[in-house]
Amino acid sequence: MESKNILIKDATIIADEIIKGSLLIENDKIVEISDKIGISDAEEVILADDKILLPGLVNTHTHLSMTLMRGLADDIPLDSWLNNHIWPVEANLTGEHCYAGALLACAEMIKSGTTCFNDMYFFMDQVAKAADEAGIRGMLSHGMIDFGDEEKRKNEFKETIRIIKKCHNTGDGRIKVAFGPHSPYTCSQELLEGVKKESNKYGVRIHIHVSETQKEVSDIQEIHGKRPFEYLNDINFLGEEVTAAHAVWVSDSEIDIIKEKNVKLSHNPSSNMKLSSGISPVAKLLDKEVCVSLGTDGPASNNNMDLFEEMKISALLQKVNTMDPTVLSAANVYKMATINGANSLGLENEIGSIEVGKKADIVLVNMKIPKLTPFRNPISHLVYSASGGDVDTVLCNGTVLMKNKELLTIDEARVIEIAENASEDLLSKC
Ligand SMILES: [Zn+2]
Repeated sequence: MESKNILIKDATIIADEIIKGSLLIENDKIVEISDKIGISDAEEVILADDKILLPGLVNTHTHLSMTLMRGLADDIPLDSWLNNHIWPVEANLTGEHCYAGALLACAEMIKSGTTCFNDMYFFMDQVAKAADEAGIRGMLSHGMIDFGDEEKRKNEFKETIRIIKKCHNTGDGRIKVAFGPHSPYTCSQELLEGVKKESNKYGVRIHIHVSETQKEVSDIQEIHGKRPFEYLNDINFLGEEVTAAHAVWVSDSEIDIIKEKNVKLSHNPSSNMKLSSGISPVAKLLDKEVCVSLGTDGPASNNNMDLFEEMKISALLQKVNTMDPTVLSAANVYKMATINGANSLGLENEIGSIEVGKKADIVLVNMKIPKLTPFRNPISHLVYSASGGDVDTVLCNGTVLMKNKELLTIDEARVIEIAENASEDLLSKC
C-alpha cells in the first residue's frame, strides 16, 4: 500500500502525557512529535486543531466474518446458540462468504477507530484478502476443532500451516497468522500439544477461548479432574505467546497460573453479558498485573465491533460487580483497549501508543461536538462519553484509511451490498 509523509497539525495528542502539538509520519512510522513542525516538508497535511489524537484501538478477540450472522439469533444461551443456530449456518460457509463478512467488519472497525484485530475463523486467506484491501492490521487464526477425531486434527493442522505459508507477514507486515485451537472443550489434548509444538516451530502466537462459561469449567473438571487453566498448565500449553479469550470463570489459583505463565487475556464484556456467561474478575486480574485487553467477540454475539462501547461497558460492569466505583478507572480501561491490546498480540514495540518510532496507527476524534463538551478530560471523554461513531479520521501503517468519516481504501456502499448478498446467500442454504 502506498505511503507518504503526512503531518497531523495541532492535535490534542494522547501520548505519555497529553500535549497540544503536531505529529509527522514518514512512510509507515511516526518520526516526530512536537509543537514546532512546519508544514513545508509534508506531502499531506491534516488539520487537527479540534481533534483528539490517539493510537488505533486493538480488538483482541473477534470472528469478523460473523458479521453475516448479525441479528440472526439473539437472547439464547451459548450452548443452544452455537449448536442450533451458529454451527448449522457455519456448515454452509464458503470463502466468498468469509471475504464479504470480513470486508464488512473491516469497514465497521475502521469507522469506529479500530486499526488492529485478532481474528479466529475459517477461510482465513479470504479474511487476509479483505484486511489487506481495507489497509487494516490483523492477526488471523484458522479455528481448529477436532473433538478427538484424528482425521479432523490432521486437516486442521494442514489448513493452519497453509494459511501461515500463504499469509503470515503479508500486506507490508500488517497481516500476521497465529494458531487458533478453538477451546479446551472442542480440541483434544493431542491437538493442543501439537499446536504448542508447531507454533514454536513457526514462531507464531496462539489464540484460544478458555473458561467462557461455568458449564465449560464443570465439563473440563469432569473429564480431566481440574479446571481449564490448570489443565492447560499441566499439559505445558500456557505461555506468553497465548492469548486466551474470555477467562470469565477463573479461580485464584488459576489467576496465579495466568500471571506466572504471562498468558494474555482478552476481556469480552458485551458478549459475556449478552450470553449470560458471567463476569470476568478484570479488576482483580489487573491488580495482579495480568495483561488484560479488550475484545468484542463475533458480531453475532455482541452485536457490533465498537471498542469505545466496550471500554465503557468494561468499566461499568466491574464497578457494579464489585459495588466499588473506584475500580477499573477510565485510564486503565483506555490502556486495555490500546497498549494492553498491542501487548496481547506481541506487537507492543510497534503499536498501541503514540511514540516516535512506532507504526502510524492513528485515530482522530472530533471533540467539537455537544457530547464531548466542555472539553476537560480527554481520557474520561473517550471512555465515558464518546462512541465509535465520533471517530473522524483513521490511519493504519501510515496510510489514511478514513478521512472526515469517509472510507478511502474501500467503497462503503459496495461493501454493504456485497455483505447483504453474501448473508442472504448463506442463510438461503440452511
Ligand atoms: Zn469467540
